[in-house]
Amino acid sequence: MTTSDEEKSTEHHEILILGTGPAGLTAALYTARAGLAPLVLDGNQPGGQLTITTDVENYPGFPEGILGPQLVDDMRQQSERFGAQTRFEQGTSVDLSVHPFRVTSDENEYTCDALIISTGARAKLLGIESETKLMGYGVSACATCDGFFFKEKEIVVVGGGDSAMEEAMYLTKFASKVTVIHRREELRASKIMQERAMKNPKIEWKWNSQVLEVLGSQKDGVHGVKLEDTVTGEISEFPTQGMFLAIGHIPNTAIFEGQLDMDDAGYLVVDHPSTRTNKPGVFAAGDVMDPSYRQAVTAAGTGCAAAIDAERWLEEEKA
Ligand code: NAP
Repeated sequence: MTTSDEEKSTEHHEILILGTGPAGLTAALYTARAGLAPLVLDGNQPGGQLTITTDVENYPGFPEGILGPQLVDDMRQQSERFGAQTRFEQGTSVDLSVHPFRVTSDENEYTCDALIISTGARAKLLGIESETKLMGYGVSACATCDGFFFKEKEIVVVGGGDSAMEEAMYLTKFASKVTVIHRREELRASKIMQERAMKNPKIEWKWNSQVLEVLGSQKDGVHGVKLEDTVTGEISEFPTQGMFLAIGHIPNTAIFEGQLDMDDAGYLVVDHPSTRTNKPGVFAAGDVMDPSYRQAVTAAGTGCAAAIDAERWLEEEKA
């Protein structure tokens, strides 16, 4: 339930952190240990993208791997041990033209001296009408959330990066066949992921193909996709009972538009190697400012940097 504007109380915090993925929670841990008692707002995906993944095999310190949701849960507990406070609220608007900055959530009004933005990114969609109409009716952007519903079905995964390989392999646990549809004939995915996917007998490949339309209805689900050959322009139909999208991500920066510098894709621009945005006192960490690496460990690393940058900035302000 959303609290009405009149009922919102204003609370002040020295540091407010938006987002609870590895970037936000690492920033929370460091600022909490610095005695700054940060307030952390969860956002619309508490724990961030790691909560919709399964095994994380590339986060250092876990030789056997660790489940994504467990990893963020541990990070949250670790930050809370030192006094970070997390709340299940979503930041809905910010006013960075005043100081202290104002942050409005769906529950409260806040002011803060320093703001760390770690709102992450979300799955990119193809942008076609049928995809939106059939989302949840045979179209999905999260294999770990929806794979279970495709037991013994033939499905497609769109994309050619590591996410597409990971999703395709995961989906072979349920589906009888997974066809990866990629718009080129060369994958973007890392060698190791490509090799694993290529070895999987349940995975087939459809190269040089772009999805023009998802065929089906909300009543009967998906029965196919209309494809365009990106080389010859030929149009064809490919039968499938489900479509999973794994074509990258979009940074969650809408509420900062017009207030902070962003690149063409909407990622927040920081003054590398620091995490300073163009607004003094506002710092950015994790996928929201990182179009290149987008790993849990790099997000945690920039979260740490943002905490240190914010702490130093606050000290300078006081001095
Ligand atoms: P990505 O590397 O940006 O790959 C996106 C893929 O989708 C590309 O193959 C791209 O095609 C395709 N694509 C983009 N827009 C499209 C469109 N409109 N229509 C059709 N195809 C489209 O994204 P990602 O796979 O999500 O990976 C993001 C980052 O996370 C990478 O750094 C990756 O290494 C990392 N990651 C790592 C792991 C792991 O190591 N376990 C797992 C997942 C992700 P083109 O190739 O033609 O551009």
